Amino acid sequence: MEKIIIASHNEGKVKEFREMFEKFNVKVVSLRDLDFHDEIEENGSTFKENASIKAETIANHFHEPVIADDSGLVIDALDGRPGVYSARYAGEEKDDKANLHKVLAEMEHVAEKDRSARFICVLAVAQPGKETSSVEGKCEGFILHEKRGDHGFGYDPIFYIPALGKTLAQLEPGEKNRISHRANALKELRYHWSDIFS
Ligand code: IMP
Repeated sequence: MEKIIIASHNEGKVKEFREMFEKFNVKVVSLRDLDFHDEIEENGSTFKENASIKAETIANHFHEPVIADDSGLVIDALDGRPGVYSARYAGEEKDDKANLHKVLAEMEHVAEKDRSARFICVLAVAQPGKETSSVEGKCEGFILHEKRGDHGFGYDPIFYIPALGKTLAQLEPGEKNRISHRANALKELRYHWSDIFS
């Protein structure tokens, strides 16, 4: 069985990767599995820069191929915020609940027609001795006025997808992993498969 290191401390993301890679018979190894607990400083100004920083830091440390995910919520009415600051929007503690409530408060008086948003995920693949490559996936939706659903993580309960009539948090994990920004990025990554696992 092939294996790949996912450079993330975010257990919500790691769980989704585990499920998505299962069907390709690829074992996901997380930073927790590797007992790597150092914080990686994400000082890039784009999802792509941050994904590359994380992937390269871990690939250099373990000398193995690594995938890193940098993702976030881009809200049009907030000029693209929280964007690359999605994880720490309400503070350095990276508190998902506090982040979500900050967005709800900022969006309180925004009209229905102006509540469009998208999740973006950039996956960077770093391999020792090779140039880092990256792919991007998106998922379009709207920001609700209140939370709905208990699945997923982060901003899922307030991210509504009209075509499904549900928030991401109302989808079963398998469903989210077919249509999410992360799933869409992973579909793109498949074109790099033979390169990663050669
Ligand atoms: P990162 O770990 O720096 O990439 O931060 C990603 C942050 O974006 C997470 O902590 C969440 O707040 C948010 N985010 C990314 N992907 C998702 C998702 O699939 N659902 C909900 N929130 C997400």
